[in-house]
Amino acid sequence: MRILITGGAGFLGSHLAEHFLGQGHRVIVLDNFITGSIDNIKGLMPHPDFTLIKQDVTEYISAPGRLDAVFHFASPASPADYAQFPIQTLKAGALGTHKTLGLAKDKRAVYVLASTSEVYGDPLVSPQPESYWGNVNPIGPRGVYDEAKRFAEAMAMAYHRTHRVKVHIARIFNTYGPRMRKNDGRAVPNFITQALEGRPLTVYGRGRQTRSLCFVSDLVRGLDKLLHSGVASPVNLGNPDEHAIIDIARLIKRLAGSKSRIAFKPLPVDDPKVRRPDISLAIAKLRWRPVVPLEDGLKRTIDYFRRQASSYSSNESSPPGKNNLIT
Ligand code: UDP
Repeated sequence: MRILITGGAGFLGSHLAEHFLGQGHRVIVLDNFITGSIDNIKGLMPHPDFTLIKQDVTEYISAPGRLDAVFHFASPASPADYAQFPIQTLKAGALGTHKTLGLAKDKRAVYVLASTSEVYGDPLVSPQPESYWGNVNPIGPRGVYDEAKRFAEAMAMAYHRTHRVKVHIARIFNTYGPRMRKNDGRAVPNFITQALEGRPLTVYGRGRQTRSLCFVSDLVRGLDKLLHSGVASPVNLGNPDEHAIIDIARLIKRLAGSKSRIAFKPLPVDDPKVRRPDISLAIAKLRWRPVVPLEDGLKRTIDYFRRQASSYSSNESSPPGKNNLIT
């Protein structure tokens, strides 16, 4: 297959790109690098089946030749990032989804949308099944992401119903692993960085709010299954193993062998109190469920952050390869 991945230099996008190259497919990554990083894909750039297009997905986009699949994964995706880039976040979810659906329609490509558990907002139902319509504050600080993704889902379904585009909508729950940005502001990279640097782990509120963390390799496997499925309606992809944030902080501190203390900070506005996917649909239709235990995934992520810390200090100026770059 020839697969286009928007946001392919980001955390999830780069893992998808690596996965599909590994399966013998050709991959085109499109990214504007506002939150993506060349470091995430520099290992892939010399690959003969890899192409990078540096472009903003909210403008007119074109890709030369045939396309079999379009993955729309471009968007600032952490609360800190979408607070910093609120308009770009709305545009990536709204205009970017429109543009990429138009491309998929033209190319007769299968379309996979990165949606999110944020469509459920601060949920009043737990765990969250796909049938739950959510509890979103449209004008709060998180609204730019939540509403953009809700619009994106509506747009994908409209292209499916009107133009018969074969669409798949992944409602992605909290995912973690190597290549998360150290400063993206999310709980896992914050806690790991703080633990490794001996600084206090910043727990927001009392840390009683819950999240359910999925390791990135499990998520990528789920997305691959979704691509090959017959399901057009949204499918939750995430790990139902739910923990309080304070317990995740303590676990990371222990696994990192850190003596850091825990410092409590104010809870951000509209921070969801619980989050846990109901994955019955994914189990039934995709025959998928996550398999990586939290401790194993966290150890691998901590190792990555350790390696990054040592390579930044010893090898800061190595330039990325320039192969296959279209600007
Ligand atoms: N959080 C925290 N300390 C941090 C970063 C995040 O306690 O340094 C909390 C945050 O308030 C939320 C949870 O951890 O309740 C997960 O936050 P994250 O930014 O990872 O993603 P979210 O699930 O909110 O989109």
